[in-house]
Amino acid sequence: MKASRRTFLISSIGVASSLALSRQAFADAPKVAESDPTAQALGYKEDASKVDKAKFAKYAPGQDCGNCSFYQGKAGDAYAPCPMFAGKQVAAKGWCSAYNKKA
Ligand code: SF4
Repeated sequence: MKASRRTFLISSIGVASSLALSRQAFADAPKVAESDPTAQALGYKEDASKVDKAKFAKYAPGQDCGNCSFYQGKAGDAYAPCPMFAGKQVAAKGWCSAYNKKA
């Protein structure tokens, strides 16, 4: 399976599961650990500057969860839900390979 297709499938699953959870359920959601299996699969780092650039060549400096279209926080929120990690919160300064620049 090509990486782009795998990413798409993971994204689809993430979006579907997030729809099943109410926003309120995220309020006290735990933070995603980098050791989390999904985090490992997506190369999630709580600090975008620590992304494995050799493995994730698509990463470019300046990209982070805070400016990703999947980030569900307001500007200034340090942590917020992301559909890739249903029921958990990601760091605004984090990054994963499902990153998609906010329009
Ligand atoms: Fe979610 Fe985007 Fe951050 Fe990946 S980069 S964890 S998709 S907000």
